[in-house]
Formats: sequence, C-alpha cells, structure tokens
Amino acid sequence: MSEASDAQAGCIFCRIIAGEIPCYKIFEDQNILCFLDIGPVVTGHTLVIPKRHFRNIFDMPPEAAAGLSGQLPALARAVCAAVAAPACHILLNNGIEAMQSVHHAHCHIIPRKNGDGFFVPWNPGKLEPWEAQQLINQIQSNYVNS
Ligand code: 5GP
Ligand code: ZN
Repeated sequence: MSEASDAQAGCIFCRIIAGEIPCYKIFEDQNILCFLDIGPVVTGHTLVIPKRHFRNIFDMPPEAAAGLSGQLPALARAVCAAVAAPACHILLNNGIEAMQSVHHAHCHIIPRKNGDGFFVPWNPGKLEPWEAQQLINQIQSNYVNS
C-alpha cells in the first residue's frame, strides 16, 4: 500500500510516486521508491525517495528515515554490481545551499569506479581543539530526536 497520501501539489517526485509522471523504476516497497536519475552524473546514478513527502532530512521523523536507510545497503550493492562499480557515494542534498534542487527528500546512489570522470571537490581544513569543543557543545545542546 502506498503511503503517498500527503503528496504535495506540484512536487515532481510526488507525481512520480502517484504514477502521473513516468520513471525508470527499479524497486519499491511500502515506504520507498527507487528509480534511475534522469540526469545521471555517472552510469547507474540512482535515486531512493520516501513515498511520503518530506522536504528533506530535516523534516523526516526517525521511522521514515529508517525506512529509507534500511534499503540503502541492498540497493547500493545491486546498483554497484549492475555497473561493475567497486564503490559508491550515498548522498543527500538538504537545502538549496547544499545543492538540493528537488524539494522532496531523496538519496542519490552514485556508483564510482576509476576513471569515471566524476569529481567531488574536497579540501580538508584544520580542526582546532577549542573549536572542536565548542562545536561539540553546540551540537549536543541542539540535539533532539523525535
Ligand atoms: P538534488 O540536486 O535535488 O539533490 O537532485 C535532484 C535529482 O533529481 C537530480 O539528479 C535530477 O537529475 C533528478 N531529477 C529531477 N527531475 C527528475 C525526474 O523527473 N525524473 C527523474 N528520474 N529524476 C529527476
Ligand atoms: Zn513530494
């Protein structure tokens, strides 16, 4: 049974879940839908989305996040095996500043292999002890899981 009863008007992923827009479906269960990304950054680029509309991870209750993440190991293994990739990124963009363009929570499975041409900029900085302690305090004082 679909749980897409809270579909948001105009949301392209809600429309895919409702069958109003086609997709290259790979797998679905009660909680999630898995399909090929229409604009793959590498061959096999796959999306996994909750059937319920959540804007992004910030809005997801633990059980919805569990329904999504519980399928990721098996789906990642299948996607990578299908394209003979030994590695993958599991990526969620949450918010415009984090490059989220479709505002229905979704997880990218991006299979990786040597020479695939996909590049993720990653420029490590330096973590000072005082800053680490300040960050720990701030994060811990903001932590709520409900
Ligand atoms: P974001 O930048 O929001 O994390 O990624 C959104 C992803 O959704 C992009 O990789 C984009 O190619 C994909 N996408 C957007 N519209 C559609 C669509 O109608 N069908 C499919 N299969 N993928 C889509
Ligand atoms: Zn939606």
